[in-house]
Amino acid sequence: MDKDLLEQVRLRLEQADHILISAHTRPDGDAIGSVLALGLAMQNAGKKVQMVLADGVPAALRFFPGSEQVANKHKDQFDMVVILDSSSLDRVGNVVDEINKIDVSIDHHPDNTHFAEINIVQPKAVSTTEVLARVIPEIGLEITPNVASNLLGGMITDTIGFKTENMQPDALRLAADLMEKGANLPFLYHHALVEKTFQAAKYMGAGLSQLQQEDGLVWTTLTLENRKTAQYPGRDDADLVNIMSAIDTADVALIFVEQNEHTVKVSWRTRSPEIDVSVVAHEFGGGGHRAAAGAMIEGSLQDVQMEVVKRTKVLLL
Ligand code: AMP
Ligand code: MN
Ligand code: MN
Repeated sequence: MDKDLLEQVRLRLEQADHILISAHTRPDGDAIGSVLALGLAMQNAGKKVQMVLADGVPAALRFFPGSEQVANKHKDQFDMVVILDSSSLDRVGNVVDEINKIDVSIDHHPDNTHFAEINIVQPKAVSTTEVLARVIPEIGLEITPNVASNLLGGMITDTIGFKTENMQPDALRLAADLMEKGANLPFLYHHALVEKTFQAAKYMGAGLSQLQQEDGLVWTTLTLENRKTAQYPGRDDADLVNIMSAIDTADVALIFVEQNEHTVKVSWRTRSPEIDVSVVAHEFGGGGHRAAAGAMIEGSLQDVQMEVVKRTKVLLL
C-alpha cells in the first residue's frame, strides 16, 4: 500500500472535525459495511461523522452493526468528504449533488475514475472493506469488534461467501484476523447469504419459473407484477442472479428487473475467468467487475431484454 497516500489521508483526518462518508446508490453489503466500518472507527477516535447513503440501508442488510445510524441525506456541516466502493461520483446519487470537493475515495472497482483528491483504489481487493481493513490501522484508527464485523460483512457479500474467482489467500487471512478482532463469521454469513424472507423466496420463485437459456446464457426477468404478487418490498433481484450463476450451463447469468415502464435494472454474472461481463455493462452505461456487473437501462422490459441478450451472446462466441 502506498505509504504516501495513507499519510495524506491520516493528515486530513487529523485536521477534520466533522466527516461525511457515503457510498453508491442501491447499496450492497460492501457499500454499507465500508461506510459503517470507517464511520464507527472515526467516531471511536472522537470525530463527528455523518454516514449517508442516498437509498438508506435495505431491511435485509440492517444486521450490519450501526446501520441505524445511516441517514439518506446529509446535514450542512462537514469539513471532509470520503466516498467508498464507488467507481465514479455518478454512482453516489444526490448525496454529492452540491459538493464540489471530495477529499478521499477508497475503492476496488477497476473502472474507478479517480474523482477525489486522494484516491486509494485496489482492483485486486475482493471488497472495499478489504482495502479499508488494511487502511484503518495505518491511519491511526482501531478495529473494534463492530468495525471488524462491518469489514468482514463486506468481504462476505462481495465474494458471495469467499467463492468468487478473485479470491486470494490474503483475503482469507484477513478474514481470520477480523474474526480474532471480534467479527462473528457464522452470524454474518447467515444474515448476508442464507436467510431469506418468505416474500423474497416467492419473488425468486417467480423469476426461476421464467428461466430461459441459449448458448451458455441463462436469463430471466422479474416484472413489477411479480414484485406485487410476492409482496416483495425491494427493487432488486433478491439475489436471484447469484443463484442462477450456479446453473451448470450458465457461462453467463443475466437478470432483468423491471423498475418502471421505461427502466430496467440488468445484472450480469459469470464464473468463467475468460469472460469479462463489465464490457457489455459499460456498453449499456453501467459498470462493475469482470465477474459481476450491472446497468440501469432505459427502455421497455421487452426491448432491453432483446438488446442485452443479443449483445451478451457476442461475449460467448
Ligand atoms: P449488481 O448487478 O447491481 O449486483 O452489481 C454488480 C457490480 O456492478 C457491482 O460491483 C456494482 O457496483 C456494479 N454496478 C451495478 N450497477 C451499476 C451501474 N449502473 N453503473 C456502474 N456500475 C454498476
Ligand atoms: Mn458495492
Ligand atoms: Mn464492492
